[in-house]
Amino acid sequence: MYQVLLVEDDVQICEVITEYFHNKEEMQLTVAHDGEAGLACVYESEYDLILMDVMMPRLDGFGLCKEIRKDSMVPIIFLTARGREEDVLSSYDLGCDDYVVKPFSLAELYAKSKALLNRTESLMREKMLQYGDVGTSEELLNKKHREDQVLRAIKTALKERTFQVFYQPIYSVEKQRYTAAEALVRMSNTKLGFISPEEFIPIAERNGMILEIGEFVFRTVCEFMVQERIWEKGIENIHVNLSVVQCMQERLAQNFLEIMKEYDLPCNRIHLEVTETVAVVSSKCLNVNMHRLIENGVQFALDDYGTGFSNATSLVDYPYDIIKIDKGVVWAAMENDNAMKVLSHSVDMIKSLNKNIVAEGVETLEQANQLKHMGCDYFQGYYYSKPVSGTDFVSLLGKKGV
Ligand code: C2E
Ligand code: CA
Ligand code: CA
Repeated sequence: MYQVLLVEDDVQICEVITEYFHNKEEMQLTVAHDGEAGLACVYESEYDLILMDVMMPRLDGFGLCKEIRKDSMVPIIFLTARGREEDVLSSYDLGCDDYVVKPFSLAELYAKSKALLNRTESLMREKMLQYGDVGTSEELLNKKHREDQVLRAIKTALKERTFQVFYQPIYSVEKQRYTAAEALVRMSNTKLGFISPEEFIPIAERNGMILEIGEFVFRTVCEFMVQERIWEKGIENIHVNLSVVQCMQERLAQNFLEIMKEYDLPCNRIHLEVTETVAVVSSKCLNVNMHRLIENGVQFALDDYGTGFSNATSLVDYPYDIIKIDKGVVWAAMENDNAMKVLSHSVDMIKSLNKNIVAEGVETLEQANQLKHMGCDYFQGYYYSKPVSGTDFVSLLGKKGV
């Protein structure tokens, strides 16, 4: 069932449209009687299509459309009494998808609505197909609704500065204590509850908001390290994740160097984690940024090693100091002899390149012992600690004795 919002101040028009759409049983109509009420509906719920009058009290159709387009690509049809060419053209400028001129036939309005919904759905299906992800119409719609909700939650969290940064300690085999940590971003929303970064980071990447999130995380980490004088508590550096989109910014290195200077944080306190996908997608820009940061003392870690498709190339082409073996690879090795052989040889190869190895997803003492035996240098995983807030991380360091 499609959710359709009708924003129209003429009660009579609302009634006839509601009745006509109701009889078709494919679309569920919600009615708002002025632009502001319409906007409130859009903020509150998800719609598949919006029909809106142009001349309305409080906020007119043009203003409403402009507001909606800041956040959403939901299809919009204008119901306009004006048929003047310039009005029609300016509606398209604002991002409306179609229009009908009053007085219109209900059958025409319905047909246009249906056509627009179908087109949106097939576009969505095409997009999902690219990700190898197809489903029923219902699943597609649900996915899109959820994505819109998460997108709005990200905007709220950025505006209200409610993102948090958690820290997961990294244990050094040699020093037998925590010497580093990985910073992991956290987001909660009053309506949606906790939202995993696995879900919201890809959405923020598609939308560009990852840049703002990334800078927030980086600043938070710098401030935290300096405030706590974390190196005096044994933490030599903190790892920060970088997204593909950040690595494609020419100004990334410059920006990060300026931030570290602002907080008076030595660059060697920061390690940046990059996945192989990044290296594949944005090799030139990444290379320039990496060298600039490395010259200043930042180190780079190759994240999720073993999951991509260009492991060896990444190791050869980029100046990584640290390789992080993906948790899936670690777990597979514990279950399967062949996977264990592959891991063991990978460790030997990486060590022969003089790089340090962090094994992720260490959940038991037995796993830790096996990985230590293989030659891994650092461990990260629930056996040691889940990611915790800054305060909890500091008190964890006080406890020592792991
Ligand atoms: P990642 O970089 O591979 O981070 C490690 C993930 O594994 C974290 O999930 C961590 O909580 C989880 N993990 C660590 N040890 C264990 C374990 O022993 N068992 C299990 N089951 N899980 C473990 P999290 O925090 O949900 O983050 C998911 C992903 O989101 C991260 O994967 C990273 O790709 C991305 N992410 C998180 N924070 C940021 C950020 O600030 N910026 C960017 N660009 N991406 C981030
Ligand atoms: Ca990581
Ligand atoms: Ca990882």
